[in-house]
Amino acid sequence: MRTRPSYRDISLYSPPAVPCRVDLSDNTNLFGVPPAAERALREAASSLITRYPISYAPDLKQALSQYTGFEPSWLTTGCGSDDLIDCALRAFLEPGERIAVPDPSFSMMSYFARVNGLQFSPVPLRQDWDIDVEAMLATGARLLYVCSPNNPTSTVASRAALERLVDAAPGIVLLDEAYTEFSRGSNVDLVRSRPNVLVTRTLSKAFGLAGMRVGYAIGRPELVAEVEKARGPYKHNGVAERMAIAALTEDLPWVKAHAGEVQALRQRLVEALEAMGLKPLPTEANFVFVPFPGAIQVAARMREQGVNIRAFQGLTGVGEALRIGCGPWPMMEAALGALREAWR
Ligand SMILES: *Cc1c(COP(=O)(O)O)cnc(C)c1O
Repeated sequence: MRTRPSYRDISLYSPPAVPCRVDLSDNTNLFGVPPAAERALREAASSLITRYPISYAPDLKQALSQYTGFEPSWLTTGCGSDDLIDCALRAFLEPGERIAVPDPSFSMMSYFARVNGLQFSPVPLRQDWDIDVEAMLATGARLLYVCSPNNPTSTVASRAALERLVDAAPGIVLLDEAYTEFSRGSNVDLVRSRPNVLVTRTLSKAFGLAGMRVGYAIGRPELVAEVEKARGPYKHNGVAERMAIAALTEDLPWVKAHAGEVQALRQRLVEALEAMGLKPLPTEANFVFVPFPGAIQVAARMREQGVNIRAFQGLTGVGEALRIGCGPWPMMEAALGALREAWR
């Protein structure tokens, strides 16, 4: 059977899924489902299931408009922000064109580049973990991706570097703000002041709805319109849409309170790790990133004790590292206990 030749060597994204007592491996919200979203699920009308949702999700855009302060024409939604990243690559680049991505950063980017037939240029982060603007521009890439706060390093791109990148970019800068609610500030204002910025965000992290698959993008109407061409009319289901609207309009106090709690928890976690002699990076996300040789083996031993965290190896400029998601303190204690045990 003839299939697309460039697809032959693409492997699927499959992080190790081990059933574990405490799972801190995927940066999702560990405080449960936001209450109004849960109510929306219970009360979902059967027509939300039997009928198609309204194409291009106008009600969800309205709720997002209230939350973000951007008019609905500046917003598009998708099946998680993964979907929007994928659609943006397809909308803005022809196959064969190049995308530049800081390294290390969101591991899905090389996959999205390949499935869209793009050239992929990883660009090492600087030693201070900021993006290397000149090196990114030197790739000649037509689309530049920046994740801030960055997964997996938990660090942010500096405002000055971002502005220089956006102003000198030959095309779109795709700014991934999946963790913005946990950070000191967003750079979404660049969307208004510059013509070439698209920001993606998600309800999978601070909003606790990862399983419902709702993400959104913010950009000038001309850019958003192109992304919508690439994504098609029905990208999330009607029930997920209702839950997202409920979360955005009624659960903001819940979301803010837990994001604030995460900021305090991650500080406690950082201090506990430092007390063990480890050197976690400064974090503005809902996880802590700890580079050290032997991290892979430590993670395997932690897993034997029922604690799942994400381990990386061979990361550019880092080597091995652990990424620990932040949740209620008893979970952090379980992780620290398993880590101490595994490290001995
Ligand atoms: C989790 C995450 C996302 C969000 O993915 P969804 O598809 O919205 O669930 C996007 N970017 C980064 C860097 C992430 O870590």
